[in-house]
Amino acid sequence: MKDFETVIIGQGPAGLSASIYTSRGGIKTALLGCDPKIAGDYEIDNYFGFPETVSGRELIERGVKQAQRFGVTMECDRVLGIHFDDTGKYIVKTEHDEYRTCSIILATGVSRKKPDIPGFEKFDGKGISWCVSCDGFFFKGKKVLVAGEGIYAANQAIELTDYTSDVAVCTLGKKNTITPDYMKRLRELNIPVIEKGIAELKGGDVLDGVVFSDGESSSVQGIFVALGDASSTDFARTLGIITEGNFIQVDREMKTNAPGIFAAGDCTGGFLQIAVAVGEGAVAARSAIAYVKENCRGA
Ligand code: FAD
Repeated sequence: MKDFETVIIGQGPAGLSASIYTSRGGIKTALLGCDPKIAGDYEIDNYFGFPETVSGRELIERGVKQAQRFGVTMECDRVLGIHFDDTGKYIVKTEHDEYRTCSIILATGVSRKKPDIPGFEKFDGKGISWCVSCDGFFFKGKKVLVAGEGIYAANQAIELTDYTSDVAVCTLGKKNTITPDYMKRLRELNIPVIEKGIAELKGGDVLDGVVFSDGESSSVQGIFVALGDASSTDFARTLGIITEGNFIQVDREMKTNAPGIFAAGDCTGGFLQIAVAVGEGAVAARSAIAYVKENCRGA
């Protein structure tokens, strides 16, 4: 069992940012997770301070070095579960270890769950995108689909109307789980919800059409994936943390309803961008520092 004052779950922008603040603020910090999804050759064009495009990989490597400079303990280890022990602390169980802590920052992001669409890989990045704020601009005036479920998909579709009026949500053959509030907003924006699967993707170098499971064709030029991960909401459920769909509910200080548990970044929903994740990480860290100083020391 390893003891820390705060355990941060997720080594993406939110987790790294939070860890820099907590460790620099003198809090004994563990940062758990592995392979941040953005740590690839993705070109980041809209993050402050990089006039030339920076790769996701370089941004994360720089963040890791910065966190290490302030003494963060980083482990490439997947968290399996969190529970309360009889001393009133949280136990974070990972694939390789156990951590005892009085505060936790959830920064688990939303996972890139691949949709079950034949030929998906061929068009990934060539008509298929994972992020409206990053790529919506490239689909100005085009016909696009959001492939996914629930509030996440509805939000992405609503955001897409900044770029095009020809947007639909496709549930990939699953039951529509979008809440009535969001359905009302989709109807107001003329965004239909198609409850069919996608049987085929069409196109040469880039996507230019889909065939639905009932054989109907559509000249879709863009598909945005919006399938969320359950991991952060799984933890939330065990701990009685309030969620909204797949996202963790937080207040302005990134506090959840559970004492000592904070959340930041994509797992809290809203505008899923690096700048937001980094900012929320900083706010969550400030709250965690205050919590640790008030509740976890010298008793
Ligand atoms: P993430 O970066 O998702 O990090 C969460 C981390 O938690 C992951 O490493 C995950 O593996 C880990 N994790 C999850 N569950 C567990 C667990 N149980 N145990 C341990 N670790 C766990 N944003 C921009 O601003 N500009 C862009 O140009 C841009 N381009 C993008 C391109 C792509 C292809 C994608 C997918 C996203 C892009 N985004 C972009 C969005 C941006 O990547 C996210 O908003 C940002 O990474 C969110 O940071 P985060 O720390 O909240 O989550």
